[in-house]
Amino acid sequence: MSFHKTSPPELALPQPEEGTALYVHLPFCATKCHYCDFFSVPAEGQDLGGMVDAILVEAAGRAPKKPKTLFLGGGTPSLLPAKLLKRLLDGLQEITGWRDSVIEATAECNPESLDRDKARALLDLGIPRLSVGVQALDDEVLELFGRVHKGPDGLRALEAAREAGVEHLSADLIYAWPGQTLERWEHDLGEVLALTTQHISAYNLTYEEETRFKQWLDQGRLAKAPEELELTLFERARELCGEAGLGAYEVSNYSLKGHECLHNINYWKNGTYLGLGPGAVSKVGSVRAGNPRGIAPYLRWIESSGHATQWRDEPSDLTRLAEGWWLGLRLAEGLNPAQVRAAAHWNGPPDQDPALPVAREMIELGLLEIKTDLGEERFCLTPKGRPVADAIAVQFLRKVAGDCDPKSAPVGALE
Ligand code: SF4
Repeated sequence: MSFHKTSPPELALPQPEEGTALYVHLPFCATKCHYCDFFSVPAEGQDLGGMVDAILVEAAGRAPKKPKTLFLGGGTPSLLPAKLLKRLLDGLQEITGWRDSVIEATAECNPESLDRDKARALLDLGIPRLSVGVQALDDEVLELFGRVHKGPDGLRALEAAREAGVEHLSADLIYAWPGQTLERWEHDLGEVLALTTQHISAYNLTYEEETRFKQWLDQGRLAKAPEELELTLFERARELCGEAGLGAYEVSNYSLKGHECLHNINYWKNGTYLGLGPGAVSKVGSVRAGNPRGIAPYLRWIESSGHATQWRDEPSDLTRLAEGWWLGLRLAEGLNPAQVRAAAHWNGPPDQDPALPVAREMIELGLLEIKTDLGEERFCLTPKGRPVADAIAVQFLRKVAGDCDPKSAPVGALE
């Protein structure tokens, strides 16, 4: 894969079609969590209003009209005062008309900056879906994570959102942290489910390069959870969410029917999206492009040229095909190879689709199966395949696209 690292304004991105999913990256957080490799910086001393204005300048040049979904991610969007959220969302409305077109609009929130007033303000501004980074309910664990909120704050934030009238509420939880037991996981998940949250994202802790957690792991200061326990916690999450009526529609995501995250489903279906803000990534047609992971270069480039595209990449059709399998298999409904070929713009004869022999290999290993209950043949992960979805992705990328690093294919609107 080749990245062309030049400065604006030479790099142009195709104009996204009307209806394209819109992602806005607000890169400020209370502090930097020790496991996090998203682009974000502590908010203290930063010019939040200046960032909102810059994002609006970028939006004026490239945001799609009438987006179907809008997602404010980060970072911590809830950290912005209500008046800045209003400036951002009203400005985006003028540029895109999103309030009249979206079927879903989400803001990521963290417990320390989500109270009833903030939830009410977001609702009033047209954001009915809040995704709250609860992560854990134990003070010591939250401190280890580098979070600023305390154990009870996560549940308090969910309650505040409910009291404000939020009906599309999601909670993020992390499992397989050092020292976690099945009992503690059952307790935390049970507490969150008791608040009848409609959607839960439960991710196992990963040790990403250039994070403090990876450094501590390498130094022997942290020990990974044993694989067997990780698998037990994963399966228990499926059971407990299922008992509460939240089905696993994706490997790590559970929801009541009708509360699935449509914005993220578009990513898993390898759809088109436009990202605004520092570090945001876009995929328009077969072109991917990204903004710099830095506040200063982003602001400087926006000021000088109105956009901040730092890199642009056109992956090969084989890479796009492999990505389609990697992402689509994460969905419980699985994938239809013809749709993956179309999304990847792969135009060869269907019987020579290079992903099919890899899929057959996975079926022989018991990791994939073919289902027909939706009226067509769809390839799905089996119960044995679900916990190793990432390893299966690597097989597709390596054998179809000749690439062995799933990270080289950015997913979602973040680099
Ligand atoms: S709050 Fe979220 S985005 Fe911010 S540092 Fe923590 S994990 Fe990263």
